[in-house]
Amino acid sequence: FDTVSILTVPFINTTNQAFLSQLEQDVLAHQNRFVVTANPEILMYAREHPDYQRVLHQADYITPDGIGVIQGAQILGTPLPERITGYDTLLDLLQWGSEQHQRVFLLGAKPAVLKQVVAKLKQTAPNLVIAGAQDGYYTDEAAVADQIVAAKPDMIFIATGFPKQEFFIAKYRHRIDGLWMGVGGSFDVIAG
Ligand code: UDP
Repeated sequence: FDTVSILTVPFINTTNQAFLSQLEQDVLAHQNRFVVTANPEILMYAREHPDYQRVLHQADYITPDGIGVIQGAQILGTPLPERITGYDTLLDLLQWGSEQHQRVFLLGAKPAVLKQVVAKLKQTAPNLVIAGAQDGYYTDEAAVADQIVAAKPDMIFIATGFPKQEFFIAKYRHRIDGLWMGVGGSFDVIAG
């Protein structure tokens, strides 16, 4: 995708549909991919935290998650077609993953929330393989990374909020090829 830069952060200039179809291809080809869905809050944080800014620049795809990013692009004269949110992309990938019998690892949220999410997915995405699930209040980060590797997931969704989820992905994505994506508070929304 070509990109539009806002505060030095390059956003992909594409639609939800085209992005999803690219991610599906990437997953089927076992590519190592790092997705960040960035809202204005993330942009502000990155501006003040160079280590987080560096992590953002390691992402393969940064999407405009938030109307503020779309408005910013418009004002700069380089409009982006539409919002691409972490939540919508997650739901789409889970549905597609079920159709394709893909393996997922879910990391993040409180234990009860995560349990709810797993139960919901068994109903709504019956052919999805939940290769592993770990709540976001772990103490041994390296052990969690080992757990992910052992589960051999195709897609790893990390819902521990920013910046934690992006730091985790940048540190451990090389351990296994697949789609790594930070999804913030999405598990709480799915759990309802
Ligand atoms: N969370 C977690 N581990 C932590 C801190 C937070 O798993 O150490 C979870 C929290 O339970 C919630 C999510 O991360 O489900 C954070 O959601 P929030 O909406 O604050 O994240 P954002 O969308 O702003 O990145």
